[in-house]
Amino acid sequence: MTGTTIEAGTSRKRITIRGVVQGVGFRPFAFRLARTLGIRGFVLNSSSGVVMEAEATDRTIAALLERLPREVPPLARIDAITVDDLPPTGEAGFSIVQSTATSDFTLIAPDIAVCDDCLRETFDPRDRRYGYPFTNCTNCGPRYTIIRDLPYDRQTTAMRAFPMCVRCDAEFRHSSDRRFHAEANACPECGPGLALLRAGEGFDPRFTRDTRAILGHVRRLLRDGSVVAIRGIGGFHLACDATNGTAVAALRTRKRRSDKPFAVMVRDLATAERICVLSDAERALLATRERPIVIASRRPSGAIAEAVAPGNNTLGLMLPYTPLHALLFAHGIDALAMTSGNASEEPIAASNLDAWQRLARIADWFLLHDREIETRADDSVMRVIDAKPRTVRRSRGFAPQPIDLGVDVPELLACGADLKNSCCLTKERSAILSQHIGDLTSYESMFLFEETVGRMKKLFRVSPQFVAHDLHPQYRSTRFAQSCGLPAIGVQHHHAHIASCMAENGIREPVIGVAMDGTGFGLDGKVWGGEFLVGDLAHFERRAHLRYVPLAGGDAAIRQPWRSAVSYLRDASVALDLPTATKERELVEAMLDQRINVFETSSCGRLFDAVASMLGLRQEITFEAQAAIDLEQAVDPSEQGVYPFAVDGDEIDMRPTIAAIAHDLGIATIAAKFHNTLAEMIAVVCERIRAGDALHRVCLSGGVFQNALLLERTASRLLQRGFDVITHSCVPTNDGGIALGQAAIAAERIRRGNL
Ligand code: ZN
Ligand code: ZN
Ligand code: FE
Repeated sequence: MTGTTIEAGTSRKRITIRGVVQGVGFRPFAFRLARTLGIRGFVLNSSSGVVMEAEATDRTIAALLERLPREVPPLARIDAITVDDLPPTGEAGFSIVQSTATSDFTLIAPDIAVCDDCLRETFDPRDRRYGYPFTNCTNCGPRYTIIRDLPYDRQTTAMRAFPMCVRCDAEFRHSSDRRFHAEANACPECGPGLALLRAGEGFDPRFTRDTRAILGHVRRLLRDGSVVAIRGIGGFHLACDATNGTAVAALRTRKRRSDKPFAVMVRDLATAERICVLSDAERALLATRERPIVIASRRPSGAIAEAVAPGNNTLGLMLPYTPLHALLFAHGIDALAMTSGNASEEPIAASNLDAWQRLARIADWFLLHDREIETRADDSVMRVIDAKPRTVRRSRGFAPQPIDLGVDVPELLACGADLKNSCCLTKERSAILSQHIGDLTSYESMFLFEETVGRMKKLFRVSPQFVAHDLHPQYRSTRFAQSCGLPAIGVQHHHAHIASCMAENGIREPVIGVAMDGTGFGLDGKVWGGEFLVGDLAHFERRAHLRYVPLAGGDAAIRQPWRSAVSYLRDASVALDLPTATKERELVEAMLDQRINVFETSSCGRLFDAVASMLGLRQEITFEAQAAIDLEQAVDPSEQGVYPFAVDGDEIDMRPTIAAIAHDLGIATIAAKFHNTLAEMIAVVCERIRAGDALHRVCLSGGVFQNALLLERTASRLLQRGFDVITHSCVPTNDGGIALGQAAIAAERIRRGNL
């Protein structure tokens, strides 16, 4: 020892900070705070969070511990701080030291939209980052999609390919700089570059950091009506001018996406207001740093081409979330139709070569960059219902933020459902729900599913001891679970829906669960989807359900709503002409008579299909829930009438409703009364259940509750009757939330030892 003196009254503490603390500017923040207080020691990223060693008087350390949680950087979230005593070392000064890898667990920040400071630099001709599309800082930019491993360091991200230049390095080292320890720091001298390729020519991208000329060219191409595949943060977009009907129609034809709406990225909020009517909540949601697509009601006389969202009175809007996007709007372009870079329902393309191959027949041009995408993520989709944001698709900006399960749980993997799949891992108290993966119908999506499971296990240091899955024996996710070599826990689909709603709302006590859904495998082997459950996370009882109706033709019954109409009309002994070919109808009637390829269902989604078909709104669909969306849009919101229905024991009989609809007049009136009837039916059945079980808390879940009108009317009727109504917000009510529900249920069953 060389004469280090340790003052009396000095102590040294190891302070471990857990939560979302990496990639959010936490170390620079801790550094500045320690310097301000005159604390000696160091701070580092470890894979169990941020670790500080602080040496000072007890009073100063108390001040540090008091200020740490109060003054955290905007993107950080502290879950826990632990403090351990260490012997003082007499260390001088305070520093940020090299990160260490341990086998512990830390949370990763999601991708965050470009901040105002970075945007200002990008548009300032005197700034050295003028026109540079990869400008970012400690407070913004990609995170989850560029991370290969933890701890979060440039070397463990896609930025390792770009050594910082002298000036970036100086920013990185200077404690008062906004880019102090910004691991993804980049500039036109050292960062990623762009390349523009024309479809059909050779794949030989030459990336250049002289990006302004390329972006000027791309703006001209878009203005002239080209479809451009644009590489972004979590994958490729296909983009074209949203006001150019020919360009949008071309994109739609080439993508073979006959009706499904495209999203629209708009220059700014003012442009958004010209296209849609926005509430305060919708405006705020559009501008949040997660920058989701927000579904809002479309102004009738907007400049947006009809082909963007044919027949829809809503539009999915989003604001630019990278400097690259912002630069596309610099001259002349106000609104771009944007859709995930994929062919129909395949996963989004992420690598340059993958996009080049898969999007060759769709895009005219390819705008590429050379920063690799480590984790794919589509845009998230949200909608405000009842003044609250609701997640339709949870992906970029939200994944992999954890959901607190409230108790320590065993490590497990939940595989989700086969449509709108996401998967979920658990560790300690956290459930980490993956980004949206998509429908597990293709080899590509199954590959993405397995890749995501593998990547998340590695990043979050999870070794699952159990695997949870849907009861559907034919689901690919089920078969994957059964091939894992782990104890497998089957979870009923609608129990999982209700549990996902409970988990996101931190509820563990028994509830009444109302699952209004399309399709889910039932305990009796029939297709459930209009279910009233009573239970908690570990088990449930089915208390009531929509009466079973036989449907003909497997998947065809879902693709062709008129088949549902035929079944529900027959079932109710009601004659009604349908605008469908007589021959086909006779064939379906014969199948029903002879019970060939017939399944029984209590699905609320099929009931919607039947009514939409009866009203002549939609006989065939090209995307899930299309007929139900038509029915919701047809509603006259002032209509308060209700049709009759009957509840007989555990069976809810909607035949009186079908009969009344067949004899009623006016599409808007009927559509409204149908919604009101379902809301009333749900309230009545919940009252019956409450009479027996003294439960007053109702969880609403399942894909049908994506319907804004039904959710609002159901919630208000339940509230009027004194129920405590629990709904989704940050987790989808559709099958995108199933994995979370499976995880919560499996964890609770393991905890209680009843598998
Ligand atoms: Zn920034
Ligand atoms: Zn640089
Ligand atoms: Fe479902």
